[in-house]
Amino acid sequence: MKFIVACLAVVAVASATPLLGSLNLGRTLEVVTKPVGESGPVFCGKCKAAIKGRTLNALGKSWHPEHFVCQVCQKPITNTTFNEREGQPVCPPCFAQKFCEKCYHCKKPIVGKVIKAMNHSYHEDHFMCAGPCGKPMAMSTPFFQKEGKPYCKIDYDILFARSKK
Ligand SMILES: [Zn+2]
Ligand SMILES: [Zn+2]
Ligand SMILES: [Zn+2]
Ligand SMILES: [Zn+2]
Repeated sequence: MKFIVACLAVVAVASATPLLGSLNLGRTLEVVTKPVGESGPVFCGKCKAAIKGRTLNALGKSWHPEHFVCQVCQKPITNTTFNEREGQPVCPPCFAQKFCEKCYHCKKPIVGKVIKAMNHSYHEDHFMCAGPCGKPMAMSTPFFQKEGKPYCKIDYDILFARSKK
């Protein structure tokens, strides 16, 4: 009997998605105090009312400083690093909790590189061979799949391929 090995072309790196990328880079917060009436009224990106005095510029909009709040927890963002979701600011802890993919292995949010394989997402070093070596599998290495578990080529050969000959 000939044993057919399905070699899966692995692994999509999702670090190029803006969602994840922005968490690493953060966004910069610029606080300016405009003289009132200098260039016409500016309107708050949240409440849409005209802003007088202290103006916060971020995400290509202007905001009342007290209205630049996390979309999730509604707390004001005073930190200069934050994330964006649909044009609204999100603080980094909320962003990681709500919008980052969770690792199938450790269940924690994945910040940065994601390994997508077998309908799950993993941290880069949490996508591990289910065989005896137990090593994390590198991005570019093809892996073998057996009963929903990933195996490196060496272990796969030892465990499955040879026994079928
Ligand atoms: Zn406002
Ligand atoms: Zn928040
Ligand atoms: Zn993990
Ligand atoms: Zn292995």
